[in-house]
Amino acid sequence: MRLSKTFIKTLRTAPKDETATNGALLTRAGYIHKEMAGVYDYLPLGLLTIEKIKNIIREELNAIGCEEVLMSALQNPELWEATGRFSDQEVDIWFKTELSAGGVLGLAPTHEEPMVEMMKNYVSSYKDLPLYVYQFQTKFRNELRAKSGIMRGREFLMKDLYSFHTSEEDLDEFYGKVEGAYKKIFERLGLGDSTYETFASGGIFAKFSHEYQTILPVGEDTIYYNKDKSLVLNKEVFTPEVLADFGVDAKDFTETRGAEVGNIFKLKFKYSEPLGLKYATEDNKSEFVYMGCYGIGVSRVMGVIAEKFADDKGLVWPEAVAPFKYYLVGIGEDGTRKTEGIYAEHKDEILFDDRDVRPGEKFADSELMGIPQRIVISDKTLASGGAEVTNRATGETKIVDLKELFV
Ligand code: ATP
Ligand code: MG
Repeated sequence: MRLSKTFIKTLRTAPKDETATNGALLTRAGYIHKEMAGVYDYLPLGLLTIEKIKNIIREELNAIGCEEVLMSALQNPELWEATGRFSDQEVDIWFKTELSAGGVLGLAPTHEEPMVEMMKNYVSSYKDLPLYVYQFQTKFRNELRAKSGIMRGREFLMKDLYSFHTSEEDLDEFYGKVEGAYKKIFERLGLGDSTYETFASGGIFAKFSHEYQTILPVGEDTIYYNKDKSLVLNKEVFTPEVLADFGVDAKDFTETRGAEVGNIFKLKFKYSEPLGLKYATEDNKSEFVYMGCYGIGVSRVMGVIAEKFADDKGLVWPEAVAPFKYYLVGIGEDGTRKTEGIYAEHKDEILFDDRDVRPGEKFADSELMGIPQRIVISDKTLASGGAEVTNRATGETKIVDLKELFV
């Protein structure tokens, strides 16, 4: 991508109405544009980052046999009435809208009900199971507070996976596979060291649900962790009874803040029963389908990564999610000619700052945008033997022969 050709522009100062670091930096660096509180547009760099995050999740879910779909955002109230969840008392974050011919529709806050209803068309026998179906989809939630930038949106991107089984054992086994996939996902996203599987409330037939909490000072959750035992509990379950069950002592835990980047639930028949998702067993008995559901907040993950690694100069992306691996700057006639040649050969990996602005401005923007490696070619670097390559995260600089740059 050539910076001279994009419409995005960086900003020296943060927009006044943006209090969260992630929102402020991502806006300044030209990744997102705010429509209103909790509602954001993704610009070219932001979209590339989102796609990198999605692809990591996609690869790991496909590796455990999941199938990707894309379901609608407009929701049929009848399905949600069957589970009691269309009521605003039951689910207090609905956005609802009216049909011009009369009648109400919902805007998807999540997808259990339509997913179950859809699968009734495809599941009839034990031979059709198990199934693991997921999507990346826009959710709408009328959140009371939306002051955390893209970490809490009223419109946001979620990955939601639903699994369908003939037995509790099969559900348990797949649940374990998702735990394994999530571990790999958060490692690949650069959050492996700071993200913990956490016991939380909301267990439906299991005692707990599991959340994935990334340690973050501005995270909205209070969590307690015990490093020796690798045990992390959300405040909501940090009670004397639960501690006794685990055989642990409150004093061995450290209190900290976490951002919930994902969560997983064993649902059993919670949705299959009210909506009537059944299958015929081998001896032709009709039974309810066992289910699990597994979420990751894709746009929240982007906000958490932005927040987690940022420094006083701007964003710092782990290489796996950066929109581009290299930020390329040419100075002077020779340097500029050389960078044109390099860009022509490695377009996909390079954000090319070919704008007619001072080098200092280019350096500042390369730091604000958080691109992992900056390559500068000038008379001076050429005289030293090649290009100057600077690592955004460590600040380390080295001279690299032009032929060695992309090997
Ligand atoms: P929270 O407690 O943060 O409101 P939740 O329990 O409502 O989350 P789920 O309904 O299970 O979350 O959604 C799955 C995932 O989607 C969450 O783990 C989180 O990462 C993400 N998520 C939930 N609400 C939002 C939101 N308003 N904006 C961005 N991401 C969200
Ligand atoms: Mg919520």
